[in-house]
Amino acid sequence: MSRPRATAALLAAALLLSACAPSVDPIERLGRKAADRVRPHGPAGVPAYRQWGLAAPLSPAPRPPLHPLAFRTALPPVVDHIPTSDRVVFLTYDDGAEKDPRFVDMVRELRLPVSMFLTDSVVGPGYGHFARLQSVGASVQNHTLDHPAMPGLPYAGQRAEICGQQEKLKSRFGIRPRLFRPPYGTYDTTTLRAAADCGVTAVVLWRAAMTPDGITYRNGDKQLRPGDIILVGPDEALGPSLRERTTRLLRRVQASGLTVGRLEDYL
Ligand SMILES: [Zn+2]
Repeated sequence: MSRPRATAALLAAALLLSACAPSVDPIERLGRKAADRVRPHGPAGVPAYRQWGLAAPLSPAPRPPLHPLAFRTALPPVVDHIPTSDRVVFLTYDDGAEKDPRFVDMVRELRLPVSMFLTDSVVGPGYGHFARLQSVGASVQNHTLDHPAMPGLPYAGQRAEICGQQEKLKSRFGIRPRLFRPPYGTYDTTTLRAAADCGVTAVVLWRAAMTPDGITYRNGDKQLRPGDIILVGPDEALGPSLRERTTRLLRRVQASGLTVGRLEDYL
């Protein structure tokens, strides 16, 4: 190769190198791209917990108990609180009126274990939303077909409300729920008999409720305690969205040194 040609070749090589040599080498760039895909961050690289309005990541829940509560009663137990020293509370939602796709994102990104107690006549044609929630880790439970107040209704009517919704949920989600929440949190012994006959193993009420005015307590201390079952709702409440109510509640949960457990692990 003559000298001018060699110089030209060198120049060309140098140009080529400078043109495709950004500050980061290609392998590192590829590595970063892969990492970006798996990191649960938003588009701007903001951690998921910040995006959802929390100051710190939600602590992981402790390992679930090896032997969930074993009840030896003929009728399903009625629980509003789980006796446990694990520093967890449980988030439950009723009816199924609000179907916000961003709530699905929130449950997925925060890996939030939530239990949805669904009423068929309220969910209406919106079961797809709850299937998406179930696919990101929510559990689906029974809250009757048509949301009547149960006390005083005859056995056949109560049984139809509970067993009917068991069948609906089985056909929609492929699972027959074990947990039942009576509308308005009211029940009588006929409710418990009907629930047992429909395959329900626990009737779930709540000790604390997240309302637009803050947390209210149905009994006991006016503060969150380990094992509390919390109703985030009610759906019909005006004011902040389900997402906003959940964020406010999670901040309170974190401020109390608690985290969120999966109710079904404890019942
Ligand atoms: Zn309800």
